[in-house]
Amino acid sequence: MNKNIAVIRGDGIGPEIVEQALLILDKIAELYGHTFNYTDVDMGGCAIDKWGDPLPAAELEKCVNSDSVLLGAVGGDKWNNVPGEMRPEKGLLRLRAGMGVYSNNRPAKIWGQLASASPLKKSIVDKGIDFIIVRELIGGIYFGEHRTDSVDGEDVATDILKYSEKEIERIGRIGFETAMKRGKKLCSVEKSNVLDSSRLWKKVMHKLAEEYPEVELSDMLVDNCAMQIVKNPAQFDVIVTENMFGDILSDEASMITGSIGMIPSSSLGGTSCGLYEPIHGSAPDIAGTDAANPIGTILSAAMMLRYSFDMASEADAIENAVSAFLDKGYRTADIMPNGEDAESCVKVGCKECGKLIIENLKR
Ligand code: NAD
Repeated sequence: MNKNIAVIRGDGIGPEIVEQALLILDKIAELYGHTFNYTDVDMGGCAIDKWGDPLPAAELEKCVNSDSVLLGAVGGDKWNNVPGEMRPEKGLLRLRAGMGVYSNNRPAKIWGQLASASPLKKSIVDKGIDFIIVRELIGGIYFGEHRTDSVDGEDVATDILKYSEKEIERIGRIGFETAMKRGKKLCSVEKSNVLDSSRLWKKVMHKLAEEYPEVELSDMLVDNCAMQIVKNPAQFDVIVTENMFGDILSDEASMITGSIGMIPSSSLGGTSCGLYEPIHGSAPDIAGTDAANPIGTILSAAMMLRYSFDMASEADAIENAVSAFLDKGYRTADIMPNGEDAESCVKVGCKECGKLIIENLKR
């Protein structure tokens, strides 16, 4: 297969981690007979320096015309004082809007080798944690009307939570499609005992389920879900939920896995063209020191293969190579254990990490 990938290296550790992900994609191309063409895109602080704009229209165009986008991270102290519209993060918001992505998908996976980094009890972690949260990204209470009125001499604030059937259906579809590519279990999370928007959410999800007879759909109230994520996370495969619930639950889920440097994400819309990026930022404190963990970006590239290019075996190969790397005791600084546990581990830098993962890539 021939695929065109728009590559945003960005700022801080962005260029270092993206470089390793591209080397891994090159090796996958060689092993499986694919061609990946890369187009560099300037976004973030580096685009402000070069073009005076965090995402010039021509750069966005390259992303929209690609088969998918791989992003490192943007931002840094240097651009903290530029005007709001010119901030590096504005580039990211414009990119999401320009690509029309309305779901953010974050896996919560505990790698057995890093189980001790999880704040959860060993007995819970040992059952295995490997699920993904599909969060609606551009609707709900964050995008509803916000208002503060003065009533009888005091301020009264209002935020409107609104969802249409269409908005729910399109995110639901991403939930079902994601479940089809994983364990075929989908948990729809809402607050239907209180909210009308949640009752509509539940109704639409059940209607959609008729189109996906292979997927086992369950419903869960958001307060219960927050408890179940720490009590019995092994029960989940895919969770689909609205914007604010997803915002909160996905941060909870990333905490239970241990290291921020290991977590990939995708943002998808109505086409197969997705945006793939690690969940962390540009880590200016370690930029240029070869200390960054590139695995979140490498796993983002694996998600791109699985969810945008239908290359499940290739995605499995990358995940297996990461697992083999960890099995052999290699660790970047952020996932290096302390004390006695450190004796069986070898600390490696960003480049060495990429090289060792490539050595473990097998078809
Ligand atoms: P951060 O995620 O960049 O860093 C938080 C801490 O985690 C730091 O100590 C950092 O060294 C460490 N860390 C992060 N990624 C790591 C990795 N791959 N390997 C090893 N250690 C890693 O968050 P921050 O410090 O709050 O933000 C720094 C900059 O990144 C800011 O300008 C912020 O606006 C930006 N940011 C960008 C994105 C994005 O591009 N999507 C997301 C979040 C923050």
